[in-house]
Amino acid sequence: MISRDQYIESINKLDHRVFIQGEQVDRIADHPISAPAAMALAETYAQAEKEDQKALYTAKSHLTGETINRFLHIQQNVEDLIAKIDMLRDMGKKTACCFQRCAGLDCVNAVYSVTHDIDRQYGTTYHERFKDFLIHLQQNDYFPAACMTDAKGDRSLSPSQQADKDQFLHIVEERPNGVVVRGAKLHITGGVNAHELIVMPTRALTEKDTEFAIAFAVPADTEGVTMIYGRQPSDSRRLEKGKPDIGNLHFGGCEALVVFENVFVPTERIFMKGEYPFAGKLVELFAANHRASYGGCKVGVGDALIGATSLIAEVQGTEKASHVKDKIAEMVHLNETLYAGAITAAVKGSPNPCGSYSVSHLAANSCKLNITRFPFEISRLAQDIAGGLLVTLPSLEDQEHAEIGAYVRKYMTGKEGVDSQTRMRVLRLIENITLGTGAVSYLTESIHGAGSPQAQKIMITRLADIEGAKAAARKLCGI
Ligand SMILES: Cc1cc2nc3c(=O)[nH]c(=O)nc-3n(C[C@H](O)[C@H](O)[C@H](O)COP(=O)(O)OP(=O)(O)OC[C@H]3O[C@@H](n4cnc5c(N)ncnc54)[C@H](O)[C@@H]3O)c2cc1C
Ligand code: SF4
Repeated sequence: MISRDQYIESINKLDHRVFIQGEQVDRIADHPISAPAAMALAETYAQAEKEDQKALYTAKSHLTGETINRFLHIQQNVEDLIAKIDMLRDMGKKTACCFQRCAGLDCVNAVYSVTHDIDRQYGTTYHERFKDFLIHLQQNDYFPAACMTDAKGDRSLSPSQQADKDQFLHIVEERPNGVVVRGAKLHITGGVNAHELIVMPTRALTEKDTEFAIAFAVPADTEGVTMIYGRQPSDSRRLEKGKPDIGNLHFGGCEALVVFENVFVPTERIFMKGEYPFAGKLVELFAANHRASYGGCKVGVGDALIGATSLIAEVQGTEKASHVKDKIAEMVHLNETLYAGAITAAVKGSPNPCGSYSVSHLAANSCKLNITRFPFEISRLAQDIAGGLLVTLPSLEDQEHAEIGAYVRKYMTGKEGVDSQTRMRVLRLIENITLGTGAVSYLTESIHGAGSPQAQKIMITRLADIEGAKAAARKLCGI
């Protein structure tokens, strides 16, 4: 395993092609816009270094027997599935943002299992190839970003029907020692902080879409790969002098548009090529893993928001009001319901044909559907308790101003004995999580990340035992 500082150094040294707001950036962990995301990801390394966190943040590789970071572990049993959820909740609470590394974790678990299934049907050797790649990741403690979502163009058309085929990443040339691919993957969490990129198809495919049925991995600095950093609400506050209004002082999430312009992929890095019937299976497995993960990370962010809301109630003298206590209890109830969904998905997990474990797909999809809703209600309650100042607060810099500072300090205080600075900082944190850079992860990502709500409804409809339920109802009413 590598240390937090070694991780930061490793991504600063990467020769990847990254653009942030029109400027090419060399040292990604040093740029003020991207640094908080690098620091959030670096926490996954920092936690694994701590003696008292090793049980949660490390695991034994089933391939080499070595101790590895749990973010690279192939889940071997139900205990591993539960530990993952608890680790993500712990990380969410500590960073209050998307710390990015679990997309890679869920992806390696999905590809590990599906390559085994493809080999069984087609006699290919993808699984052994993927194992070699996994050992490479584990021994270097690398972070692989999960690149699934294509640009998709006209959503009513399949990949092969698109006017511009590049709307879905596809093979453009076959060579004796590999393939050349073109296309783009959108919203890639932690893409700029990744050592490797794992690419998978974005949807189920048919025979006509064979050229789009491709899964592979390439180093993030491979020739032809360009990353364009996504903007987030209030991100330019990170550029302000002293950054007083940033809210979350240390951490943030990040996504990028990752373009693959005629990128060569060597044969040993290809994990699916043309086996289109397995594209849908790979999407479903990655999605199920990742949907359960949201019941860890978003719950952790919920913990941080409940903490901030309780603090602001104390600072403003409302903490003993019965409706405030009731609202905080409601926030906890919603948050724990999300956690219960993820734990159910883990406890009801089962072995894959290759021996690794995956969550219950039905429970994971139900958990994620709640995630598309509850963080919004939790945020609404936080904003209710915080008051309107949440969106009308002067800058924290104003309170230091020679002329107007006295006004800000006088009128921004709450309860006697609490200074304006304390109140303003807590309000800024709530603003960050529910409206600012943190809301990208806590709210919009809760809707669309790991698939939009309708994708969960489709899976729930497919997996629910409605016939069994009808049989029970018939019996009860004597039909
Ligand atoms: C913060 C964030 C982080 C993310 N991280 C990653 C990542 O690390 N890796 C990755 O691969 N992806 C990532 N994603 C992408 C995520 O999986 C997609 O956003 C999600 O699958 C929805 O796709 P879309 O954004 O293209 O929206 P669309 O697919 O355009 O969906 C928008 C709406 O249109 C509806 N719709 C779409 N197609 C159809 C159709 N054919 N018929 C009827 N209705 C339709 C949807 O149900 C939805 O209501 C991330 C997304 C976000 C927001
Ligand atoms: S959304 Fe959550 S589960 Fe997905 S990468 Fe971010 S922190 Fe991890």
